[in-house]
Formats: sequence, structure tokens, C-alpha cells
Amino acid sequence: MIRPYILAETNWEALKEESFELVILPWGATEAHNYHLPYATDNIQADHLTAEAARVAWEKGGRPIVLPTLPFGVNTGQSDIYLDINLNPSTQLAILTDIVEVLNRQGLYKLVLFNGHGGNNFKPLVRELGYKFPKMFISFCSFPQALDKGLYFEEEGDHADEMETSLMLHLRPDLVLSREKWGMGASKKFKIKSFSEGWAWAERKWSEISEDTGVGNPHKASKEKGERFFNDVTQKMGHFFYELCKADTKDLYE
Ligand SMILES: [Zn+2]
Repeated sequence: MIRPYILAETNWEALKEESFELVILPWGATEAHNYHLPYATDNIQADHLTAEAARVAWEKGGRPIVLPTLPFGVNTGQSDIYLDINLNPSTQLAILTDIVEVLNRQGLYKLVLFNGHGGNNFKPLVRELGYKFPKMFISFCSFPQALDKGLYFEEEGDHADEMETSLMLHLRPDLVLSREKWGMGASKKFKIKSFSEGWAWAERKWSEISEDTGVGNPHKASKEKGERFFNDVTQKMGHFFYELCKADTKDLYE
């Protein structure tokens, strides 16, 4: 079945008469995810989450279109981890500028970026592009913050953790190594405590904070937990996408 809200699947026959309300751009990364998850973990999650959320929005009567997932992200802190591919933030801005230029010329004024990777930081990019393209309404979202993770998962973490492992067991179990291969995802924190309090920030050198590249113990992960989280988060994202579809960008505040 060709999904009409997935640009990579649809065709000119369908699009020459179409008028979309919202463009969704998933952005991932290509990087090691503990020993047991594939390098494309963030991209696979982004593909599935945006596709399902777009389906939800479409069923409600919205007209979103999902662009292909951009597969490389900011991995400046993983320069010594084999084949983690880094795009610099300035490169991301250049790519995004070209995409926004197309949308702006064609009158597709609503764009939402879906961030599938913690190293991507879209806020300064969105500010700059909003300033350069005043007709555009550009926003972004990321999924782990959309719900209270503690209601779904037992272990904390932010990379190849219980949540990501559960999602991958649900989405692509064929790409997850068997449990005895899973690392513990143990990680070190900065000695300077301010960096752990949320108000001071420095990049972590990944190879020095984690042996297996994971941050967060994956061992309580399960397919069922992944499925439950996936269904709930895509419902929430789908509603957000629908609201963006129908929003009047000249009347956004109350
Ligand atoms: Zn990830």
C-alpha cells in the first residue's frame, strides 16, 4: 500500500493535484548504539514514529507529508567512535536552508522538524531560518520528552537505553542482537557537579563516559514496553501534527 503522506512512496500522479498543509522532516544520526542496536537506530525510530504519527494526523483529516529522514546528525562528541558520522551544526543549517527555500518558494509554509537524535540542536537553526523566511512557520519536536518515560520504563538513560532497545525490539527485532550481547550502558558523569544540574553544559566525550557507547541500562527492555510507548507517543505526536495542519499561523496565541 502506497502511503499518501510519505513523500518517498507517493508519486507525481498523486501530488500534482495535492496541497499539503504541513511538511514533516525527520532528522536522525548514524552512530553506535551500545553493542546490540544498529547504527541506524535513530533513523529507524524517526522513520516509524513520523510515519505513524502522520497516519494518525491524516486519519483525523490533516494533510501532512513526511520527507525522507536525514540520516546523519551532529556527532562532534563521538569523533573517535568508529564510523559515527558527524554533520557539523553549520552543515545542518546549510541543508535546512536549502530545504526551507524549496518549501517557501512553493508556498508550503509550515515545517516541523522531528529530532531523532540528542546531538541535534535545532533551536538556533529554527530561529535563524524563521528570521530569514518570515512566511515560514518552523517548529521542532523530539519524542522521549513527549511522555513521562518513567511510566513506561524502569531504567533512566538517554542512549541505547531501555527505551531505545524496547522500541527497536518492537520495530526491527531482526536488527537487535541477542540479550547476552547487550552491554550494561554504564556511564560516567562530570566531576563538576554543575554540569549534571541542567544549568551548565559541556559536551561529553562519549568514548570516555561509556565503554559500550550506551548510556542507560537496556536489560529491562521488552517488545511489549516498546509497543506501548510507540503507540502512545505516536498518538500524541499525531495530534500535534494535526493541530499544526489546521493552525492559522496568523492567529497562534491566546
Ligand atoms: Zn539513539
